[in-house]
Amino acid sequence: MKHLPSSTRVVIVGGGVIGLAISSHLARLGETDVLVLEKEHLLGSGSSAASAGGLRQQFAEEANVLFAMEGVRQIRRQKEETGFDPEFKEHGYLLLAGTDLRVAELARNVARQQRLGLPAEMLTPGEIADRYPVLRTDDLTGAAFCGTDGYCDPHAVVMAFADTTRKFGGRIETGVEVTGFSRNGDAVTGIRTSRGTVTAEFTVIAAGPRAGGMADLVDLALPLSPCRRQIFSTHPFGFPGDLPLVIDFDHPLYFRPETGGVILSAAETEETRNFDLTLEKSGLPDLVEKAVHRCPSLESATISGGWAGIRTLTPDGLAILGDAPGRPGLLLAVGMSGHGITHAPAVGLALAERIISGASRTLPLAPFHAGRFTGAAGAPGGVIQG
Ligand SMILES: Cc1cc2nc3c(=O)[nH]c(=O)nc-3n(C[C@H](O)[C@H](O)[C@H](O)COP(=O)(O)OP(=O)(O)OC[C@H]3O[C@@H](n4cnc5c(N)ncnc54)[C@H](O)[C@@H]3O)c2cc1C
Repeated sequence: MKHLPSSTRVVIVGGGVIGLAISSHLARLGETDVLVLEKEHLLGSGSSAASAGGLRQQFAEEANVLFAMEGVRQIRRQKEETGFDPEFKEHGYLLLAGTDLRVAELARNVARQQRLGLPAEMLTPGEIADRYPVLRTDDLTGAAFCGTDGYCDPHAVVMAFADTTRKFGGRIETGVEVTGFSRNGDAVTGIRTSRGTVTAEFTVIAAGPRAGGMADLVDLALPLSPCRRQIFSTHPFGFPGDLPLVIDFDHPLYFRPETGGVILSAAETEETRNFDLTLEKSGLPDLVEKAVHRCPSLESATISGGWAGIRTLTPDGLAILGDAPGRPGLLLAVGMSGHGITHAPAVGLALAERIISGASRTLPLAPFHAGRFTGAAGAPGGVIQG
């Protein structure tokens, strides 16, 4: 068992896609005095392993669109730059509307996205039927579509970040649990672990669903809700592989092609406090009924398995990124709100720039500041700080 260094410039708690994206960008930009600590023996085995691999840029919030667009830009270059093929299927995301209210909301979002340079568009039910005859459209009012969205292999994204970190001189240790933080007054000066203490100029919490508990240890109460979500897979049954990821908001579900079959989810948001990942099958008949309603050819599919994972949500759907209010030396990369694979490349770049040059130059970090919840200077919001 290797010893941990007694000090490092940057220590990152969590070896999921977010922690590794930050270490990878730091190392690539020349900051190699970085240490990632992961409590499990495998990297990316938390929420990152449960993802559907969806890369969606169609968000309501401008900051989320910008981060997702940067994410897609980097993932397109990933194979060439790292050798790890993310198998990005740029087949789009189709967001279905079943009410006039929903279609109006999607149209407002599309107008905003187009202003940001995203090639999103609105489709009528007739246009949806022409493009995707496998879908039932007679009860739809329209859809939003973006052809540069798609889905990828999230494992390859995690591995590319880990490999880049090591190749450029950063250090990653698995099987090391961070148990607390060192403090000097309000300032956070490093971490305590199952294998000793490490002092650091910057400590980054990137602990996925466990981030709320980590922040509690420095008396920072963040509004993070760990929520369970399940995905089921089918056996191959000749389903077309070039379809978009389809989200049906009004009969909540989503599905996308996967090796001749589909993966599908009821898109549930069920808060959990015990982090239980047991696969719960009682909702499966209802999910299958809704899926067959939307895509009748799914009638011939059979379920092959499934898994549960945890998404860490915030009240406004934006992650919490950047400096922790009132805790100098501590940075947060938490509350990814269900799109951490898509946003990881941008989060990694923005946090690395913040650490190296004092501010993120490429992307705006301000909309993600924790102060919007804690009432810290410069950000709106109520007081939640503990
Ligand atoms: C069912 C499901 C579907 C999803 N689909 C998509 C999708 O289609 N597209 C998309 O973009 N996103 C999706 N997501 C969300 C995405 O998976 C997450 O946002 C992302 O993986 C979060 O990454 P993370 O690094 O923050 O968390 P994690 O991957 O959980 O990594 C955090 C790591 O920190 C470690 N850790 C925690 N505490 C400690 C400690 N004390 N000491 C040391 N290590 C610690 C954990 O072991 C873990 O490995 C989905 C999530 C789920 C559950």
